[in-house]
Amino acid sequence: MALIVQKYGGSSVGNLDRIHHVAEKVIHAKREGHSIVVVVSAMYGETDRLIQLANALTQQHDPREYDVLISSGEQISMALLSMALNAKDCPARSFTGPQVGICTDNIHTKARILEVKTDVIQRELQQGYIVVVAGFQGVNQYGDITTLGRGGSDTTAVAIAAALKADECQIYTDVDGVYTTDPHLIPEARLIPQISFEEMLEMASLGAKVLQMRSVELASKHNMPIRVLSTFSDGMGTLVTFEEKVMQKRLVSGIAFSREEAIISLSSIPRQIGVEGLILGKVSQANIEIDMIAQNASIDNKSDFTFTVPRREHSKAMKIIEELAAELGAVTIKTNPKVAKLSLVGIGMRSHTGVASTMFKALGNEGINIQMITTSEIKISVVVDESHLERGVRAVHQAFELDKLQQPAESTFIE
Ligand code: ASP
Ligand code: MG
Repeated sequence: MALIVQKYGGSSVGNLDRIHHVAEKVIHAKREGHSIVVVVSAMYGETDRLIQLANALTQQHDPREYDVLISSGEQISMALLSMALNAKDCPARSFTGPQVGICTDNIHTKARILEVKTDVIQRELQQGYIVVVAGFQGVNQYGDITTLGRGGSDTTAVAIAAALKADECQIYTDVDGVYTTDPHLIPEARLIPQISFEEMLEMASLGAKVLQMRSVELASKHNMPIRVLSTFSDGMGTLVTFEEKVMQKRLVSGIAFSREEAIISLSSIPRQIGVEGLILGKVSQANIEIDMIAQNASIDNKSDFTFTVPRREHSKAMKIIEELAAELGAVTIKTNPKVAKLSLVGIGMRSHTGVASTMFKALGNEGINIQMITTSEIKISVVVDESHLERGVRAVHQAFELDKLQQPAESTFIE
């Protein structure tokens, strides 16, 4: 008998038919003899609706009340799922995050979990109940409800699984698992059977939306593997686990991309110490998030400085840069508000050479100009014109034969 934590996302509990379907899946797992804790998200669109209500009422909401409001969607789902289970003669009881002791810090709307008390859940499991818990919420030291940031139910599930030392943490969603790249853009994308925590963190931070980033951080910290699966189809999904346990060793795992980028480049800046800090200081003072940065010095004591910002902040950033360029004198500004970032992720890069050159050659063969490059130990990111993104992703995907990735054979879930 195993202890399994299952999490169902907003689209999985999006209407009553789907809630019945989820109940059937939970009952199936229970009948196999396992103890089950289920974490639920709000019904699809509900959290957005609550946020809109708050914003329509007032722009200056009290964070405490705001969290009380936006956490309420999960309470609806948990009760409905429990009722569906009970109606099918499967005893279940639902609990809010505070009721089961999900203790957080005081940062409303993006609280961090500090501790998960397990006594309530354990007591209920021992009595044979399926325990249904509202995701996305906890309680701070003052007894106030907090929420864990958008997508936070994933983190609730991982935190509970880690605290209970569960055998598996299953995250059910509306896709089959984690793909080599977005299958909506590249239909040749393949399901990744296993991926390391580190790669998944990069993919999540680069915009792959299947898992909340914090949930992956937490899973890796507590050595709690996560399986991402579809609620609507059978299959093994993707196991996110320790590097050593990833069976299929691959050079690269996936390609993440984001379209919402803009690039700004200053050239011939007179070289003076601290000028980089000055430029970035002004941009971040305006609360504009800077993503990639590159700088190179030219021989004549001048330097070029290039960075990217979210596209929606482009005109705001340009205003600041134009003012600054006037102050610095003789600086040329070049910019492109419609660029995209394409990132190749893989732990194989740490020990193999030639990954970057294969990537750049693939882009070059397509006639795609690379406007900027940054790298980390397991990632290479390039900036390209947005109109080249799809072709670029496809070319890199093919160059690393990600379209030929072996798909898993069916087997049982619990290893
Ligand atoms: N309902 C919350 C959201 O929409 C939390 C979650 O679904 O994980 O962000
Ligand atoms: Mg989610």
